[in-house]
Amino acid sequence: MVFEKSAGAVVFRRAKNKIYYLLLRYRLGHWDFSKGNIEKGEKLKDTAKREIREETGIKDVKFIKGFKERIKYFYKFNDKNISKIVVFFLAETKTEKIKISFEHIGSEWLPYEQALKQLTFLKAKDILKKSNGFLPKAKNCAIKTAMREN
Ligand code: ATP
Repeated sequence: MVFEKSAGAVVFRRAKNKIYYLLLRYRLGHWDFSKGNIEKGEKLKDTAKREIREETGIKDVKFIKGFKERIKYFYKFNDKNISKIVVFFLAETKTEKIKISFEHIGSEWLPYEQALKQLTFLKAKDILKKSNGFLPKAKNCAIKTAMREN
C-alpha cells in the first residue's frame, strides 16, 4: 500500500450577500476542491495556499479560523493500491476570475445547492456540508456580518 497526503481548501467568495463555492474539474473527470500534495517540510495551510495559487491564480485567500476537516479514500494507480488522506481548510477570497492550470479542465463558482450536486464524491459533499454549516458561526468571516444585516 502506498500512502499519500494532500491538503486543500473549500474556497468561497461572496457576491451580493450570497456565497459561491469554487469547484475544479480534474482531468480524470471528477469535480472537487483545490488541493495537492504536501511538499517536504511544508505546513498544511501553506500547501493549501500554494495549491490554490498554482491551480487557480487566487492569491488573496483568508482562512476561516477553526475549520479543519480530513477525509480518507483509496484508489488504484498503475496497479498500486493507494491510501490517501486529504485535509481541507475553508478559505475566503475576493477574486472572481480564475486561471486554471494544466491539472484541471474546468472551474465554476456555484451556490451551495448546485455545488453539492456537482461535486463527484460523497466525502467531498460532506466537506461542503460542513463548510456551509460552519460559516454562519465563524468568527473571522465577513459573511457573518452580511448575514446579520439581512
Ligand atoms: P491531488 O490534487 O491531491 O494532487 P490527484 O489529482 O493526484 O490529487 P485525486 O484527486 O486524489 O488525484 O484523484 C485520484 C483518484 O482518487 C481518482 O481516481 C479519483 O477518482 C479518486 N478520488 C478523488 N477524490 C476522491 C474522493 N473524495 N473519494 C473517493 N475517491 C476519490
